[in-house]
Amino acid sequence: MYNEINHPFLKHKLTVLRDQKTEHKDFRELANEITMLICYEALKNVEVEDFEIQTPMSKMTGKKMKNEIVVVPILRAGIGMLDGILTLVPNARVGFVGMYRDHETKKPVEYYSKLPEDVRNPLVFLIDPMLATGGSAVATIDLLKNKGFSNIVLISIISAPEGIKVVEEAHPDVQIFTGNVDERLDHNKYIIPGLGDAGDRLFGTK
Ligand code: URA
Repeated sequence: MYNEINHPFLKHKLTVLRDQKTEHKDFRELANEITMLICYEALKNVEVEDFEIQTPMSKMTGKKMKNEIVVVPILRAGIGMLDGILTLVPNARVGFVGMYRDHETKKPVEYYSKLPEDVRNPLVFLIDPMLATGGSAVATIDLLKNKGFSNIVLISIISAPEGIKVVEEAHPDVQIFTGNVDERLDHNKYIIPGLGDAGDRLFGTK
């Protein structure tokens, strides 16, 4: 299932992010702010349990998160969303998965992974700014599930309908939260209208 966040403030920030005039410093700040807004919405998936406290006035039963959060950015562009989610959930653990897209086959190739061990049933936030073909997302979710993680949400800033379909078909249990569902992919598998190459724009490499 996918959830497109239809908040006017987020759409405003997305427009500035997409604009080719926006340079890497502002792009990075905006990517993190947008991530925060999307993740806030996705956090409605956390399970909570009753928790007794004493306020200065009286006893009360509040709520406490049941499970830890593990954030997994897909390298490299996912790093550009990490500060945003850690601002919301500072005690989250962080794992990394490196995937690159083979230029010829357009298929994802894993080259690195380091994930937290011995965390009981965490909610995993898989973060990647662009859900394009869905190939890296599906490959990373496969990897996470093979390592025993079962409660996974996918956060993307912009998604293509093609990528959403691929993830939904391969992993119907994974909820997708995205800032916008764009029109389509072009022949190079870039999102139209999109924002170009998210990694290059984040890190000023082009
Ligand atoms: N990755 C990007 O950075 N941009 C796209 O449009 C598609 C994949």
